[in-house]
Amino acid sequence: MEKPWLTHYPREIPHHLNYPDKTLPDYLRETAAHFGGHEAIYFLGKTLTFREVYEQALILANYLQQIGLQKGDRVSIMLPNCPQAVISYYGVLFAGGIVVQTNPLYTEHELEYQLNDSGATMLITLDMLYPKAAKAKAKTNVKHLIITSMKDYLPTVKKWLYPLMQRKQQPVMVKVEERSDQHLFSKIMAQPNATEPSVEINSAEDIALLQYTGGTTGVPKAAMLTHRNLIANTLMCAHWMYRCDKGTESILGILPFFHVYGMTTVMNLAIVQAYKMILLPKFDVEATLKTIEKLRPTMFPGAPTMYIALLNHPDLARYDLSSIKVCISGSAPLPVEVQEKFEKVTSGKLIEGYGLTEASPVTHSNFVWDGERVKGSIGVPWPDTEAKIISLETGEEAKANEIGELVVRGPQVMKGYWNQPHETENVLRDGWLYTGDVGYMDERGYFYIVDRKKDMIIASGYNIYPREVEEVLYQHPKVQEVVVVGVPDEYRGETVKAFVVLKQGQQCTAEELDQFMRSRLAAYKVPRIYEFRTEIPKTAVGKILRRALLGEERKKE
Ligand code: AMP
Repeated sequence: MEKPWLTHYPREIPHHLNYPDKTLPDYLRETAAHFGGHEAIYFLGKTLTFREVYEQALILANYLQQIGLQKGDRVSIMLPNCPQAVISYYGVLFAGGIVVQTNPLYTEHELEYQLNDSGATMLITLDMLYPKAAKAKAKTNVKHLIITSMKDYLPTVKKWLYPLMQRKQQPVMVKVEERSDQHLFSKIMAQPNATEPSVEINSAEDIALLQYTGGTTGVPKAAMLTHRNLIANTLMCAHWMYRCDKGTESILGILPFFHVYGMTTVMNLAIVQAYKMILLPKFDVEATLKTIEKLRPTMFPGAPTMYIALLNHPDLARYDLSSIKVCISGSAPLPVEVQEKFEKVTSGKLIEGYGLTEASPVTHSNFVWDGERVKGSIGVPWPDTEAKIISLETGEEAKANEIGELVVRGPQVMKGYWNQPHETENVLRDGWLYTGDVGYMDERGYFYIVDRKKDMIIASGYNIYPREVEEVLYQHPKVQEVVVVGVPDEYRGETVKAFVVLKQGQQCTAEELDQFMRSRLAAYKVPRIYEFRTEIPKTAVGKILRRALLGEERKKE
């Protein structure tokens, strides 16, 4: 297969990388050996070194084995970004377990579904999530709860203040009792240092992670990602993004680690490269700006909605964001306007990348330092990653600039879906992953995402890609955020509707937007309906919840 993009690779990015036969814990051990005294984690005033992370992961691993964990058993980790999330992840892997990443915002029903589907026998979570976890335990295969508290890793003064802080935000104070099936993380960590458990792990075959996703069909299912998959993507990231030595950088960890995007581009990258992680448990615009100014991280992987929120902060100019050297934006299209403005205020690089859970997740991005960046493009495939476009009509490989489904192949592509052979067959053919995203490749080998296959709107027989309409709406000076969807229409089959959030203090009418759009887009693409909102629902990684908006529309029918 021809790979035109390789001709654009700058000299220092290899076309092929070496993927040693190692496991993720092997990398933590090595980093602890060479950079043991370096700061690994900064969390609300407290720091942990790589040696401490390694030692604590081993203590946990031994404990998990003592309470019955066997190789291949699943352990759900339901934590926001905090030191325990990193220690638990590596602790489970050291013990030979499989990590099941669980979103702390899951409802009881979602949690129960995931625990039953994965067959998890242990659950590690926060005290404030205990009531939900205890209920789920009664209805699933979970035998042990391991409970931690945010205050376990706070500096002393903050520990004293913690009950007050918690009372303010969370009316219920949860006191968890210690029992033979309920374990306190703080007590586990008080045990003496432990040695590495001996577990044989086959990096290419053994699953490290079950990562739940709606995938291309919307049915919740788990991508099985092996050690090799996750290591491959982390090494690609290290080579591509950050032309810098080990132990030199610091990454702002706001993207949640329970999503594979934050896990690879922040947590695993930091462990492999000995970079410091500056963790924030959730995205808050003010806290993010203050943290960047005070702690001066050099990297900030994020999602477009995060960068948009920062840029729209009324006091943005007061903050010094000059430490930021490089950010990768993924998970949704990055509006060109946002990219340009963000680069101006930080003087760093904001590059668009692309990926999906099933690919650990990154497959494409623009170049960071040398090599041409093409705005509006997701860039080119990463080393050892192949990509092509398959025509939606013929199923054959499409020509340059012809629209079709993006398919990818490489060492980061999952083994398959957990217990879902039929879903696996639908998306994995000959090692090629059918992404469900519609796009094209230009003559030079740069790729463009036009939209999700299932988000395409068909109005009066015309195909309309919401992203194209959104891009134009973003150019309107009063618009902060938009989502374009197709809604049922008696005459056209579907018609275009735009949900719009205006910038603070701005006023605007549907007529004003309509005029603006008509001068810039073919009439059939122009939204017929505008709905103004104060905010738009998003996932924890800042991805817009298009389905939630569509669900609201359906309820109106
Ligand atoms: P997830 O599996 O939750 O990571 O979601 C993956 C999906 O996010 C992809 O299949 C795309 O639809 C979308 N996505 C990721 N990056 C981009 C991007 N740069 N532009 C457009 N869509 C993206």
